[in-house]
Amino acid sequence: MNSSPIRAPSPIHALFWDIGGVLLSNGWDRDQRRVVVTEFGLDPDDFQERHKLIVPELEMGRLTLDDYLNQTVFMRPQSFSRDAFVAAMEAQSVPDDAALNLLQHLAGRWRMYALNNESRELNAHRRRTFSLDGPLLAFFTSCYLGVAKPNPAIYRLALDLAGVQPGHAVMIDDRLQNVEAARSVGMQAVQFVNAAQLQTDLERLGVSA
Ligand SMILES: [Mg+2]
Repeated sequence: MNSSPIRAPSPIHALFWDIGGVLLSNGWDRDQRRVVVTEFGLDPDDFQERHKLIVPELEMGRLTLDDYLNQTVFMRPQSFSRDAFVAAMEAQSVPDDAALNLLQHLAGRWRMYALNNESRELNAHRRRTFSLDGPLLAFFTSCYLGVAKPNPAIYRLALDLAGVQPGHAVMIDDRLQNVEAARSVGMQAVQFVNAAQLQTDLERLGVSA
């Protein structure tokens, strides 16, 4: 690591983290759905059509996971239980250990928040399973706020709720469109590729453990 004895103070006061594709695998994206739909022998086209129509409501917190499953899986009798299907959904969430390690190292030194799109039930499962509530002070998640990335409104709302000026905040996200949206409201933003690259990009902004 390159550190000079005198370092200019970082302009960054707070870090906003995407979760799916950064700290953990995606929660219920295309790849996860494909695995589970195949495992349970569902018709992929029928499932996809039904999913597409209703998933924005799920992620905006206007629909429960039960209601979502009623429309996408259990609109007809199935040979498997709802609990088994939900367990398979949850099993798709795996950690990026290096990214979680970096998060833990930065915790305590930096104010950090989640800014992510997720349903209430999966978000709760992921927060609990991967102990995200320790390092992340609050969850500005689409299911709680009723608005989702890349709508610039969710970034402005998160900044207001955290009490941070956009120029003093950095958004970490794996999707370019979400990164661009963060920059459009004046935030700094880093597109996540892997933990080592993120660490380097954060150090350039004066953010280190
Ligand atoms: Mg993501």
